[in-house]
Amino acid sequence: MTSTLRVPDEGYIKFECRVTPGPPPSWSGVESLAALVGTRARLRARGWLGQYEEGPLAGVGFGNVSVRDEQAPRFWISGSATGGIEDFDAEHVALVTGYDLEQNRVECVGRLSASSETMTHAALYEARSELTAVLHIHAPALWRAGLEEPGLLRTGHEVPYGTPEMARETARVAARSPRGTPLVLLMAGHEEGLLAAASSLAEAEAALIHLAASLGASA
Ligand SMILES: [Zn+2]
Repeated sequence: MTSTLRVPDEGYIKFECRVTPGPPPSWSGVESLAALVGTRARLRARGWLGQYEEGPLAGVGFGNVSVRDEQAPRFWISGSATGGIEDFDAEHVALVTGYDLEQNRVECVGRLSASSETMTHAALYEARSELTAVLHIHAPALWRAGLEEPGLLRTGHEVPYGTPEMARETARVAARSPRGTPLVLLMAGHEEGLLAAASSLAEAEAALIHLAASLGASA
């Protein structure tokens, strides 16, 4: 697969993750680790999460999954550069213990840094307190079909991924969306990128599958 994903322009505050290294903390997510691993595996099987195999981004992972921790505002998210890993387990998940949205900085505990798109997840959890799971996928055909769908919630074309602007924009859009229903959001300025968030991993996954079916775009 080739891709022309945009990287954040110079001038944006770069994402920084301060890791307290160590073994994975004991799991205290609001859903089980097995549920997170299972959801991730199914997204990967669909090609919505993984690693680019060729082109300028060869070897770069894409897509990430998170669940809220029992203790707000902490949450668990797949680690940076884990998209290509098949035997994904607790070692590949980071517990985000704090973040500073404006400084684009997160603190986490575990073996790996949290995903560079962690702040977008944080912004969603902050904007909508009932959300407990966030999925970020890359799906080229679905993304292109979504651009033609005016009813779909979206972040602006001019907002690149991995920036405080994207986190703020995501929170703004999420805050406007109806509560109590899964949220699906097209990241217009992040090529191939979509987000789904809901009050369970299963609901978020189902929302993406439903969108793909309704737009006739599975990839
Ligand atoms: Zn992405």
